[in-house]
Amino acid sequence: MAGTVYILGAGASRAETLKLTLPTPLVNDFFSEQYIKKFWYDLDFGCKFTKSELYFILTQYFVDRGSSRDHPLENINIEEVYSFLHSFGNVFSGRSYRRDEFEVARRQLHKYIIYVVRYTSWKLERSIFLKSLCSKLNFSDSIITFNWDTLIDQALEEAETKPAKELASSLHLSASPERRPRRESDNEWVEQLHAGRLIKIHGAINLTHCKNNSCYRHDNPYVWAHSEESPSHWSCQECGSPTQEMILSPHGAKTYTTNRFFRMQANMAAEKLSVAEKIVVIGYSFPTFDIEARSMLRCSRLDDRYSEAWLNEVSIVDPSVVREEHVKAISNLIGVDNDYAHGHLVKLSLYKSVDEFMRANF
Ligand SMILES: [Zn+2]
Repeated sequence: MAGTVYILGAGASRAETLKLTLPTPLVNDFFSEQYIKKFWYDLDFGCKFTKSELYFILTQYFVDRGSSRDHPLENINIEEVYSFLHSFGNVFSGRSYRRDEFEVARRQLHKYIIYVVRYTSWKLERSIFLKSLCSKLNFSDSIITFNWDTLIDQALEEAETKPAKELASSLHLSASPERRPRRESDNEWVEQLHAGRLIKIHGAINLTHCKNNSCYRHDNPYVWAHSEESPSHWSCQECGSPTQEMILSPHGAKTYTTNRFFRMQANMAAEKLSVAEKIVVIGYSFPTFDIEARSMLRCSRLDDRYSEAWLNEVSIVDPSVVREEHVKAISNLIGVDNDYAHGHLVKLSLYKSVDEFMRANF
């Protein structure tokens, strides 16, 4: 049976934490004064933010000196900064004698992202919509999240329904695929095809993997409870090497081919989308530089013109306002207005906010 696939982006986490003093940030919020003040821990980073290599990079390469802003770091896109540090390290490191500081800045940025994501989503006391959404899930529904935070893990746990529990444990199976010998059957594989999955397509702060790339745990992350504060403190149980949070770093050249886990998550997402009856996109705009994510959405189409897909409705929930270009881009990627794509035209529903979507559907 085909189910609903929910796609969650940064806008979904933002909506879920909106009542907090510091909600989970969007790409342009990370360097706002209040986030730096709260999440740059001098002791952990070994220096004050303004003395750090990261601060040097931001002020040297990103700040518009002519800007009249009181806080010139505000509105700098974190993906732009990470992409710069990443391509500098890979391509342009001969361009500056300060190359070692660039690498330090990249590591500081990585650590800062983890802190901000962890503590803005930390033990949410009152769910605004994810818990209700998770309580209504059926066994065939899937969730694809682009977010690194643990809000979805918390909501699935609180929902306490059987489908929600199964969805949460489906991530454990993706992380550590079963290796015991068994005889396969077609029926079981069909069942798996239609079973719901929790897919963390860009990784998450509650997944850690081994830094040793010849270790089994390099490609198969440990999955931690969302309440664990510093899982990467532990070394790998398979080989003793250090571990780190498994997140797909936010740069333009990121790819799902870096290891088995990411490749599998992306393929599973494409598979679930191709058998979905309904797709709901909440707070994700499939930006142009997320090339593989965009391709994943396109893969949800039929690959011939003689059959018909289950898909009958696509809902777009943009927590700010549903913008015309945003709707057009997603409709085109899924093929909503192309009857070849799914064998028929697909209904498109637009919601300006999560509230509006929840009122209409739950
Ligand atoms: Zn290891």
